[in-house]
Amino acid sequence: MDTAFTSWVYTILDFLAAVFVVLLGLGLVAVVVIYIIDVTQTKQAIRRNYPVIGRFRYLFEHMGEFFRQYFFAMDREELPFNRAERSWVYRAAKNVDRTLAFGSTRDLRPPGSIYFVNCAYPTRGEDAVATSPVTIGPYCEQPYITSSLINISGMSYGALSKPAVQALSYGAKKAGCWLNTGEGGLSPYHLEGGCDIVFQIGTAKFGIRDELGHINDERLRKVAVHPEVKMFEIKLSQGAKPGKGGILPGAKVTKEIATIRAVEIGKDAISPNRHPEIVDADSLLDMIARIREVSGKPVGFKAVIGDTDWLEDLFRLIRVRGIESAPDFITVDGAEGGSGAAPKPLLDYMGLPITESLPEVVDLLRGYGLRERVKVIASGKMIVPSGVAWALCIGADFVASARGFMFSLGCIQAMQCNKNSCPTGITTHDPKLQRGLNSSLKSVRVDNYVTNLLYDVGLIAHACGVLEPRELRRTHARVVGGSGRSHSLEKLYPTVASGSKCATTE
Ligand code: SF4
Repeated sequence: MDTAFTSWVYTILDFLAAVFVVLLGLGLVAVVVIYIIDVTQTKQAIRRNYPVIGRFRYLFEHMGEFFRQYFFAMDREELPFNRAERSWVYRAAKNVDRTLAFGSTRDLRPPGSIYFVNCAYPTRGEDAVATSPVTIGPYCEQPYITSSLINISGMSYGALSKPAVQALSYGAKKAGCWLNTGEGGLSPYHLEGGCDIVFQIGTAKFGIRDELGHINDERLRKVAVHPEVKMFEIKLSQGAKPGKGGILPGAKVTKEIATIRAVEIGKDAISPNRHPEIVDADSLLDMIARIREVSGKPVGFKAVIGDTDWLEDLFRLIRVRGIESAPDFITVDGAEGGSGAAPKPLLDYMGLPITESLPEVVDLLRGYGLRERVKVIASGKMIVPSGVAWALCIGADFVASARGFMFSLGCIQAMQCNKNSCPTGITTHDPKLQRGLNSSLKSVRVDNYVTNLLYDVGLIAHACGVLEPRELRRTHARVVGGSGRSHSLEKLYPTVASGSKCATTE
């Protein structure tokens, strides 16, 4: 028995040794082949000068995207979102302890740092009140009344996977916030959870277009008839790529996507870089009026702010046409970029960041006496409580975020959103990768994220001595200047008197 066993072990070892020798031989042959390829090619100097080992550079460069966040980057130094911010969202979404010990890792000295101004007699928990309801679109047939402060920014079905949209829809319903469809039309998955929906109208009018790409009133009416659809948002530009449209490659235009977007199956779905019908303030107001008339619901627009003369033209014209003609809301999108794929020059350099554009828009609205009429939604990397509180101090009515909600779904910032290889199943249509995203579990995380974000914004508001977050004002925050001293936001952006610019129009 022993001899048989020993002989069996020797046979296995012989086999493994033979396999090892063969693999080693194949490996050596492969190295020689790669060596010859590298020294004879002329495209890449590194590979020509350092054959074989030069290839590791490309591997490490690629893998660095994934690993530096774990091994090398400090808590506060990564972009677009650092580890401290991501961790806060993950913990909020999982509803686990968010407290820290032994002091802040945040450096409070660099210019641009924000502080909030605590008061000597903070609001007691029992005195705090819930956020009050806001009416959007008081002049349309079906105004939208909501208390929701933090909402889900535009991300299309197509850019996002089916389970991701389902998780957002159910999560938004639980949290009582709205979900913006993005420009890709209204899918059954947006509607599934029964949450409030903002239908976004991009330059290609996906979902409500005719054969020529113009708005089809009948299709618009069919979308508006859904009770979940509360508002319409005309997208003039978006944070990641102001001045550029998008493309959904034909390969991704499945039968389902083609039906939702009202385009042809298998053909590239292209959004032009501007609405062909909107060329000035007049035509923008005409378009708003038409959509409001057909849908009976509030209509606003989303824009990245660069030049502001067009806003002055628009607001002057509203004073002439009457305040009913105004957009019901403006979504100010910061140039900090969004979830969409975009060319680097636009991503890095185009448009004003939200820190500059939000005060500009709020002050112009005040100057033209439109601040109460036109609600302001701020969007631009506001994924943690400080960002939301800052936007409220400046004068926003609502905050919308896309990437905060992607983190709540489990996004690890692998930044592969445009490659159909998202490892967390959020932005891929690969069923194998989608399998890991459990929409029912993640919908709870979406709800937790909103609840905890609101709670922590409330902590800031109460420490500042106000009863609820929407009572935050510019006097409640300070920003560090070049000298290292901080200044009140009120001093940097003095509150403009309401209607002070109207005299110039009348
Ligand atoms: S994990 Fe997915 S959604 Fe998040 S950045 Fe990476 S590819 Fe995009």
